[in-house]
Amino acid sequence: PFSLIEGLAIASYAIGAEKAFIYLRGEYHFLFNLLESVIKQAKDKGFLDNLEIQICEGAGSYVCGEESALMNSIEGRRGEARYRPPFPPSKGLWGKPTIINNVETLMNIPKIILEGARWFNAIGTQKSKGTKVFSVSGDVERPGVYELVMGSPLKELIDIAGAREVKMVQVGGASGHIIPKNMMDILLCYEGVLGSGAVTVFDETRDVIDIVHKDIAFLAEESCGKCTPCREGTHIMAEILERLSQGEGFREDIAALEDLSKAMMAASLCGLGQTAPVPVLDTLKYFRNDYELRIHQSEILRALKAQRLDISN
Ligand code: SF4
Repeated sequence: PFSLIEGLAIASYAIGAEKAFIYLRGEYHFLFNLLESVIKQAKDKGFLDNLEIQICEGAGSYVCGEESALMNSIEGRRGEARYRPPFPPSKGLWGKPTIINNVETLMNIPKIILEGARWFNAIGTQKSKGTKVFSVSGDVERPGVYELVMGSPLKELIDIAGAREVKMVQVGGASGHIIPKNMMDILLCYEGVLGSGAVTVFDETRDVIDIVHKDIAFLAEESCGKCTPCREGTHIMAEILERLSQGEGFREDIAALEDLSKAMMAASLCGLGQTAPVPVLDTLKYFRNDYELRIHQSEILRALKAQRLDISN
């Protein structure tokens, strides 16, 4: 954690900021005392004479990971995205110029200054430098946090975590890309697939539509509701996917999911709504047969029910 404080101090010095915030999601309250202690130790040593660092705890909202909703939350307002422009560097917290960076980015700064930009540039791929921390969960023997060089194959990460009989992997959390098992050589970097670093492995026993339904239901719950495409789109998608997963789908559902996806990606105000359709579109691309088979089964069931009704009449 000291490299976070150091990175924060260097970044603040570079832009002339006298106040910095560490935004801690509500679920990670257990880290509060540790952070407070490292800030105090740095202060006692005189490293933070010109900088005040405040830890700001959220209440667990997913959308507060989005930069403008995060600023609202720090200001004590409802955690919902802001219209942009203006962007944070010109008008951010309390209307003042603000930069917002991920903890990982800030923690890279001291090392880059010590070792030099050439050293850092030599790690990773052409467009993705350094290392990345991944949190691996799901059907693996060793779930946990792993740090890999940018550009490592996805297969390397899931092998380290002990994945077996993989059906697909979701990279980047609930709105992350779904990678089918025949694409495990894809590279973990901006040129390949990356996202937030949350990686979930699903084995052959998992139901694709059920997984996507859970993703979208979660995002519908976490949508802040400020813009219509996301507020309505996530709920309608969740309803369609629930129907499909329960074997009550219709042929038109696939086109409806695709149309909704396009509208949400084009018209949503922030990243939550813009990326929510990603797992839907990926599974429609790589696992379309699963959708079509489920709809076909629904049609047969409906036809059988209708026949039974006819006979009993
Ligand atoms: S996209 Fe969703 S989360 Fe973002 S502002 Fe619109 S409703 Fe809120």
